[in-house]
Amino acid sequence: MQSFIPPDVLLLGPGPSPVPPNVLAALARPTIGHLDPRFVGMMDELKDLLRYAFETDNALTLPVSAPGSAGMETAFVNLVEPGDTVVVCRNGVFGGRMRENVVRAGANAVVVDDAFGTPVDPNKVEAALKANPGAKALAFVHAETSTGVESDAEELCRLAREYGALAIVDAVTSLGGIPVRVDAWGADAVYSGSQKCLSAPPGLSPVTFSERAVEVIKSRRTPVQSWFLDLGLVMGYWQGGAARAYHHTAPINMLYALHEALLGLKEEGLEAAFARHRANHERLRDGLAAIGLDLLVAENVRLPQLNAVRVPEGVDEAAVRRRLLQDFSIEIGAGLGELAGRIWRIGLMGAGSTPQNVDRVVGALGECLGRKVA
Ligand code: PLP
Repeated sequence: MQSFIPPDVLLLGPGPSPVPPNVLAALARPTIGHLDPRFVGMMDELKDLLRYAFETDNALTLPVSAPGSAGMETAFVNLVEPGDTVVVCRNGVFGGRMRENVVRAGANAVVVDDAFGTPVDPNKVEAALKANPGAKALAFVHAETSTGVESDAEELCRLAREYGALAIVDAVTSLGGIPVRVDAWGADAVYSGSQKCLSAPPGLSPVTFSERAVEVIKSRRTPVQSWFLDLGLVMGYWQGGAARAYHHTAPINMLYALHEALLGLKEEGLEAAFARHRANHERLRDGLAAIGLDLLVAENVRLPQLNAVRVPEGVDEAAVRRRLLQDFSIEIGAGLGELAGRIWRIGLMGAGSTPQNVDRVVGALGECLGRKVA
């Protein structure tokens, strides 16, 4: 065996997204102790940078030391107790995972289903909240990576507040690509992932919790069933200041990388990053149209960072993806769940969202399909 040297692949799938050289360089810096005061200073900056990305003043804002799924579990295991009722919206694969988390936390999941490829319907959500007075939380996916659909987070959070429920929001694919306005929406628990529009490698899950959510955690009747994800303990580590208590050994170099990636986001500015994602999505849409391909999702609810492209009749979608990888060194994603075989998923996330990448993937797809760009 020898050292593993990965091939040079352009990541235009549903994540991970391309990691810029300065972020990779940050990963390679010397590992120092996680209780070293200089490292602790970096952790404090990291929390501020995450507050910037989430547009929040929430004190409880930190990266969980594991990928997005751990952020999801952190939200559910801390906020939900056995016997609670949670309204869960399911319009894609990840809404289904939220339901699974609710059930495993011993709670009653009231599922609001919408077709894959369409957004969560606020009218159905309101009906479910009305029919289940006292529901502890409303949970939904802001940016459904399995379908490329954006749901109206502002309206859904408003409904949660109106009916006295906590709003739990999956922002794994949205953070850094489209607005995630935690405080303006009044969201209570929002989690994301490092490997999508933040342009760091996978392995960290930024989370933020409102004061209301912190009060709910503090007044739990039962201990959190997960020791590792128990925010009461994690808070002691991330918010301890001088009294920081050892909880687990932080993934030190990954935190350097996330810090570096977030510095890049701050330097570009959130609004500029959103505009770039939008412009490159439009370039992709037009390029695909020129080779006779169209998008699954209605224009007003399309995610700019995740494009679900209809596979033309008679085309072997897996063969096209294989050829893109082998001959063009481009990775795109397949459909998930009920959309498997019917769509490709082209991600233009974070540093991957450039006009050059759009032209490259459109040109390569055109070659694979024998359709030259007009
Ligand atoms: N939620 C959504 C919307 C996602 O897209 C993903 C991953 O693609 C996850 C949760 C899980 O994140 P991870 O794969 O980092 O655990």
